[in-house]
Amino acid sequence: MAQKNTVKRRKPGKKIMERAGIVSQRMQERYPSTDRRGYLEYQTPFQLVIATLLSAQATDKSVNAVTPVLFSKWPTPQDLASADVSEVEDVIRSIGLYKTKAKRCIDCARTLLEEFDGEVPQDIDALQKLPGVGRKTANIVMNDAFHDAQGVAVDTHVGRIARKLGFSKETDPSKVEQDILRTFPESEWPYINKRWIAFGREICHSRNPECSACFLNDVCPSVGKAETSTKTKK
Ligand code: SF4
Repeated sequence: MAQKNTVKRRKPGKKIMERAGIVSQRMQERYPSTDRRGYLEYQTPFQLVIATLLSAQATDKSVNAVTPVLFSKWPTPQDLASADVSEVEDVIRSIGLYKTKAKRCIDCARTLLEEFDGEVPQDIDALQKLPGVGRKTANIVMNDAFHDAQGVAVDTHVGRIARKLGFSKETDPSKVEQDILRTFPESEWPYINKRWIAFGREICHSRNPECSACFLNDVCPSVGKAETSTKTKK
């Protein structure tokens, strides 16, 4: 079992910690679900790895439109490892970068067979040895599929909201994640990604955040400002 992420950077100041407490409480009130499953549809940890791989630079909706066929044709690593790449491309053709992603999905299934006996490892470091799996995907799989949050998956919404609310000045997702981990208690980590994505979609949009209707506008240092110059790196 991998060790929990070691948070070496200095603890944030008292004001930021107080703001984090308010943000946590109000996010929980607004989005009370403790269901860790995100927006991608899957039946097994393997299918979540594949769906998350496909979701890079694509919407969850577009991924959910192709995965029922993909997973019915090749439900397990054994099936996908021996798939014909052109057949996989045909099934996922409607999502961006489908050629690269088809090859990655097959490579990922083969690596699972060759190095992990066909089982998705319950270890954040081992997960990142799979082709196409980075820290964000590994965090999602650990939290959603194995209920063992080792960190927080930082996507474009989570990165933007961390900066808006003054919890990070970074654009590199791994640095934003470190800032979040040192600011929020471990008990919050399983829910931050899903709640902040919901908040980003509903209120704190990237171009026109609805500050006047926002339940955090009394504590937000960016109230009234759109984020134009900083973007979370992919
Ligand atoms: S006040 Fe505006 S910028 Fe701040 S979190 Fe709310 S919507 Fe986002």
